Amino acid sequence: MKRISLAMFILIVAAALASPTLATSANPGISADEAMRVLKAGNARYVEGKLQHPHQDRARRALTAGQGQHPLATVLTCSDSRTPAEIIFDQGIGDIFVVRVAGNVAATDETGTIEYGVANLAAPLVVVMGHSQCGAVSAVVDNAKLPPNIAKLVAPIKPAVDKAREANPEAAKDVLLKAAITDNVWQAMEDMLRQSPIIREKVKDGQVQVVGALYDLDSGQIQWLGPHPDQAKLVGAQKGAAGKSGKKGKKAKKSGE
Ligand SMILES: [Zn+2]
Repeated sequence: MKRISLAMFILIVAAALASPTLATSANPGISADEAMRVLKAGNARYVEGKLQHPHQDRARRALTAGQGQHPLATVLTCSDSRTPAEIIFDQGIGDIFVVRVAGNVAATDETGTIEYGVANLAAPLVVVMGHSQCGAVSAVVDNAKLPPNIAKLVAPIKPAVDKAREANPEAAKDVLLKAAITDNVWQAMEDMLRQSPIIREKVKDGQVQVVGALYDLDSGQIQWLGPHPDQAKLVGAQKGAAGKSGKKGKKAKKSGE
């Protein structure tokens, strides 16, 4: 009997160590691919209603307070109360470095914060995540009259909406909004890369991956969009590169992964 319970104990410990969510004590040295696997697994648990709520206990708090933070990813997403990144990816304290702003735009403050996650905290993965029914994108699609601060905040969304409208001239509002939300993810990725030599260098060197994502409010599922279609150009890995104001090539919209 005793032998059986010891065997069981060893099995449980081995399973816990093999699990990415339980084994990443504070995530130092994790690769972008591993980080992606952790986020995908966490989102799958969330969608299935099988949340583990990892890393939310006193021990984790003490570990990260004492040893510092080593988040596995930097996530830029919307402030919408239905898009809490830690819950969507089933992560805990010290796991993800989150920037939230209406419309997940990447202006100076957001880009600077992402830079901190990438350069100072060495998070190997940047996720720019839009979501269905985004009010900020919707307001721009509607040409809504906005108070000055909000108008300034959502201004970076306008080029994405223009692009979506150009590609979908006859589309109904819901179709146009969907396209604009996707284009707005690409736009934020582009704005971030254009503004940040630090992130561009890290991407170029292969130290950091930047991927787009779309979160569905209803299903809870993430659609992974992958890297920006013009990434090589944006980071200067190709001739004629970042910062140049020339027309961008057609973006092949990638879906899934
Ligand atoms: Zn939103």
